[in-house]
Amino acid sequence: MTELPGRRLLLVHAHPDDESINNGATMAKYAAEGAHVTLVTCTLGEEGEVIPDELAHLAPDREDLLGPHRIGELTAAMKELGVTDHRFLGGPGRFRDSGMMGAEQNDRPGSFWSADLDEAAAHLVAVVREVRPQVLVTYDPHGGYGHPDHIKAHRVAMRAAELAAEPAFRRDLGDPYAIAKIYWNRAPRTVVTERFHWLASVLGRTPFDVAAAVDDVPGVVDDERITAEIDGRPYAERKTAAMRAHVTQVAVADTLPVFALSNRLAQPLFDIEYYELVRGEPGSAYEKDLFEGVSA
Ligand SMILES: [Zn+2]
Repeated sequence: MTELPGRRLLLVHAHPDDESINNGATMAKYAAEGAHVTLVTCTLGEEGEVIPDELAHLAPDREDLLGPHRIGELTAAMKELGVTDHRFLGGPGRFRDSGMMGAEQNDRPGSFWSADLDEAAAHLVAVVREVRPQVLVTYDPHGGYGHPDHIKAHRVAMRAAELAAEPAFRRDLGDPYAIAKIYWNRAPRTVVTERFHWLASVLGRTPFDVAAAVDDVPGVVDDERITAEIDGRPYAERKTAAMRAHVTQVAVADTLPVFALSNRLAQPLFDIEYYELVRGEPGSAYEKDLFEGVSA
């Protein structure tokens, strides 16, 4: 068996940028602490809207070169977070961005949404059996906010965790391996609400005119559902830099922890990241470390 660091974290995301927005501080922290951090991104985000006018030519209805461009953005973001193991599910471009729910791109051949679940999951099983992560992080069943690729990423991650542990499944993909703990990305409603109150008071000092709403934040739930938080404040600058690296997708205010996506609606940037444990045993009643209770 190849030598792997004692703590191994796998994150499964839909598009380049989702990892930095949701888990940037968590990823930077564990990478800095010497854990092996693996990011699997399921699509290239080809259907995203482009923020800077000078890059508008990359859009899918023009040159359709956003996918390759976003590989570069993701690479730059991972450099900021100190993460060296980042991969695309099945290789770059294997599954295409499905567009927003209801778009005609949803069912286009090659779209991630239309992919066979077990076939897509098998690509991830190979990664799980190679890296043998004790901890998996992905979205909730609603994909955080209902985007088809986020819902599909959730399904693929959960299915792959199941299949990777199945002794009879595809031994050509490696030895069976059971992931000890699975978390979904979350945001506690009271914290998010407070942060939006703060945002309203500083909005005039940001480049944005209008704020998003609490429920625009992916994964918002009642506080009781949260079982773990990662205090990423020492890594806030890295997270911010990683988000900025996704130039076509994210605009971050210069001096305040505030950002917007292509809809230009301001959102608070979180340097404490929240999770709900959905598989495995918690190490304590409210965890401050995703590896609590895990043996190397
Ligand atoms: Zn996304």
